[in-house]
Amino acid sequence: CGIIGIVGKAPVAERLVESLKRLEYRGYDSAGVAGVVGNSVERRRAKGKIKALEEVLAADPLVATTGIGHTRWATHGAPNVQNAHPHSAGRVTLVHNGIIENFAELKAELAAAGRVFESDTDTEVIAHLIDAELATGLAPIDAFKATLDRLTGAYALAVLIEGADNLVLGARRGSPLVVGEGQGEMFLGSDALAVGPFTNRVIYLDEGDYVALDHDSARIFDASGAAVTRPVRVVPTSA
Ligand code: GLU
Repeated sequence: CGIIGIVGKAPVAERLVESLKRLEYRGYDSAGVAGVVGNSVERRRAKGKIKALEEVLAADPLVATTGIGHTRWATHGAPNVQNAHPHSAGRVTLVHNGIIENFAELKAELAAAGRVFESDTDTEVIAHLIDAELATGLAPIDAFKATLDRLTGAYALAVLIEGADNLVLGARRGSPLVVGEGQGEMFLGSDALAVGPFTNRVIYLDEGDYVALDHDSARIFDASGAAVTRPVRVVPTSA
């Protein structure tokens, strides 16, 4: 339902939560964050209000400078911690807005290949697909593109790869997603409000676009895989 991603140079846990609070107006049933910690990615998730997530974080802090966050409005799978985003598979951790229409076929194929699922969501198949593509030796952006080409339905995505603390991948089809340009930091948000606390320089991704963010740049590609540029707009400050 709500998405935030940050490739930061300062701690992100509190900022992810701050952004999720801006997105509360959309409604949600659970919330979660993930961050790159050394060579792995760690998650913190909670059912219910963002307050519950803050309590989880207080008990078990997430120390990271690159991370993603999500407020979920369940479409597939009950609202509980197991189904809360972020979802992980192997080296991949991601959050998703929307519905993957062909998730049942994809899940059957992945299960037949020996992959084990820990949630009832449509979302989790995306993490497994990207991880499987990475395992063939593809670079993250290519593994991501190969996966997007297999999905039908609607999505906005923010993706972390294990050990990559200077990378957040994003994509949109049927659900909105924006890039926020900071100073030595880059942001992804499901709308301009999500990145509002951090920057007023926003790029609205086009339908079918996907993007690789690092600290200093957003490499944007259209649905065909061609590199494109999209205009940067200065939006009213909401910080
Ligand atoms: N379809 C996904 C789920 O049920 C995402 C729902 C959302 O947009 O929050 O987990």
